[in-house]
Amino acid sequence: MEFLGLEVEEEESRRHVLIQPCRALKKRCCSIYAHRPESCRTFVCLALEQVRQKELSLEKALRIVQKIRRLLASGQKASATAWIKTHILGPAFFD
Ligand code: SF4
Repeated sequence: MEFLGLEVEEEESRRHVLIQPCRALKKRCCSIYAHRPESCRTFVCLALEQVRQKELSLEKALRIVQKIRRLLASGQKASATAWIKTHILGPAFFD
């Protein structure tokens, strides 16, 4: 990913992760979409998975995304991060 100008870090688990916020993210869109890493291609957020499993309505999922956007826009980064961990990444992400 370095060749695309993205910063990559190796975790203790030897898993490579993109440094966030990702430099390729431009106005809510991936600027390297056709060349995005495999992890981005295959990632399904918890909210989407819950919608697919009919555990969460699409309307509620969209409200979660709007809430996170509002928190980020108002500079409440810690609260936004907590919502992202709970509703977007989910506990399985941290295993
Ligand atoms: S899809 Fe991946 S590469 Fe593209 S902006 Fe998001 S994190 Fe960055």
